[in-house]
Amino acid sequence: MARNRALQQWRVEDSVELYGINSWGAGYFDVSDKGDVVICPHGPRGPQVSIPEIIAGLHERGYDMPVLLRVENILDARIANIHDSFRKAIKNLNYTGSYRGVFPVKVNQQQQVVEKITQFGAKYHHGLEVGSKAELIAAISLMTDRKACVICNGYKDEEFIDLGLQALRLGFNVFFVLEMPSELEVVLERSKALGVRPNIGVRAKLSSKVGGHWTDSGGDRSTFGLSPAQIVDVVDTLKASDMLDCFQLLHYHLGSQVSNIRDIRTGVMEGARLYVGLVQEGAPMGYLDLGGGLAVDYDGTHTNYISSRNYSLDEYCTDVVEAVMSILDEQGVPHPHIITESGRATVAYYSVLLFNILDVSVVEEVHLPESLPEDSPEPVRNLRETLAGISLRNLQECYNDAIYYRDEMRQMFFAGRVTLRQRTLAERFFWAIIMRIAQEKTRLKNVPRDLADIDVSLADIYYGNFSVFQSLPDSWAIDQIFPIMPVHRLKEFPSRQAIISDITCDSDGRIDHFIDPQGVKPTLDLHPLRDGEEYYLGVFLVGAYQETLGDLHNLMGDTNVVSIRVAEDGTYEYTREIRGDSVADILSYVEYEPRRILEDLRSTAEQAVRQGRISPSERFAIMQAFEDGLRGYTYFER
Ligand SMILES: *Cc1c(COP(=O)(O)O)cnc(C)c1O
Repeated sequence: MARNRALQQWRVEDSVELYGINSWGAGYFDVSDKGDVVICPHGPRGPQVSIPEIIAGLHERGYDMPVLLRVENILDARIANIHDSFRKAIKNLNYTGSYRGVFPVKVNQQQQVVEKITQFGAKYHHGLEVGSKAELIAAISLMTDRKACVICNGYKDEEFIDLGLQALRLGFNVFFVLEMPSELEVVLERSKALGVRPNIGVRAKLSSKVGGHWTDSGGDRSTFGLSPAQIVDVVDTLKASDMLDCFQLLHYHLGSQVSNIRDIRTGVMEGARLYVGLVQEGAPMGYLDLGGGLAVDYDGTHTNYISSRNYSLDEYCTDVVEAVMSILDEQGVPHPHIITESGRATVAYYSVLLFNILDVSVVEEVHLPESLPEDSPEPVRNLRETLAGISLRNLQECYNDAIYYRDEMRQMFFAGRVTLRQRTLAERFFWAIIMRIAQEKTRLKNVPRDLADIDVSLADIYYGNFSVFQSLPDSWAIDQIFPIMPVHRLKEFPSRQAIISDITCDSDGRIDHFIDPQGVKPTLDLHPLRDGEEYYLGVFLVGAYQETLGDLHNLMGDTNVVSIRVAEDGTYEYTREIRGDSVADILSYVEYEPRRILEDLRSTAEQAVRQGRISPSERFAIMQAFEDGLRGYTYFER
């Protein structure tokens, strides 16, 4: 194990192994000989760009941490990868339909993200999936390619449908996917009123079940989608209105981050059966839309663990095409165009959250007295004895005793029977015991569960200049884990075990689950801070779902966002910069009026002048401070 090398010489390769960057980085990230994390947007043989250099460039341009860094080339590369993989599978298997990807806008609705996808995706006819009127309007405003699909999911009212029909009239390739039986009537009525023939699809509820965090949107229990009987009703209604020719698409969505390829296959087979059924009913069809679910290997384990996936992109594409063919060929049904709505896998890699560490709290070395004071209570004496008696064979027992006597002391303190100083002495012995156990247990082969938790209680707390609630909502809400690592100093041995706390000081605003080849680990290996030097961490693969779920916990706002584009020769350009929210922005989101705040402050300050508590020039300085404060970044500024 690499850690053993600490005493000799820690090398860059040891950091690469420790943080698993080659396992989760998909070739987009690596560590340079200098020990910096580098971005390799053109693949391993292309140019490398150092993240610490990008950070230095941002500081020169007046941007403080935290910064969400987007690498445009990675987004291009992901879209290209998905299309290339499908094309390869289609060619190898002699599939006769084509592949059409769409990006589900809800996964990252930021204007520049959707715009980049439509621009770069145009040459592949990569389209958009929308789930609301707002998303539809945004999509139409950004799309230029008329061949790319616009898939309308979600509940659709009359206005939503009218917007879609008008877009269809403008030449966009819009599909209305029925999520509810009642939508059909509105679609038919509005298309008659506007004189536009709609492209209709249905979202099927599959009976196949999938494991995972987000996968309740699949199966029988899903709130969305039509049952087979309801789908047949759609056929009958369309037939009766002489509009069966509008029925072109079958859609299903298993849920997100489907980590097992078997679940993907099962879903495709069931979807393909339904598709065949609809063709046999006389619907023209032509499109099979398999939804999202293509997973990201966040922990780099390449398993069916929830934060990973047990398949590659190529395997996904091959399996999907093969499964569709196996069902359709058997029934002699022509191959449809395959649509997928991959969101997570398209955008996750392209954003990195960068932040600096503001402070560290460490469990202090304990100093114990040579001898106990005469009046020391019984539990203190017992704790001292426990400490003296620790051996490899009684670790669990000593641990239990330590907790027992410490708690006994606490009780006695509450009851007023021991002094504050006596209690403190007990706590010191307690921590001395815990630290000894922590040392000893490294020699145990199988560490009991209780003892494993000790590392967490002894871990350093690194205070990061960011908000979990704002920038990593899934980390807080569903314990999603993301790869986190220092972005420099990787030639040095990371001697500290740490958990990370954000600056909201909320007990939920912390990160204590980290990726590990064996699953998850409670602490992260980090370097000790150096005086007068910033220490930067990166949270990787945060491009999907993290940006718009963020809430205004503690009134921390949006972070600065910066995009870079890397040229073939390794130079790069800061292509877009969005300054994060100011304090005034954030206050106005929650209905304060910054101008009114200043007016109120002014009158408070003026009153203080009149009462002689401050001078007029002090009033000026106070007002200046508040005005600067309102203009400032919501995060910690150096
Ligand atoms: C959320 C969603 C997606 C995106 O799923 P990913 O797993 O992120 O690819 C696709 N389709 C529908 C209908 C969705 O609701």
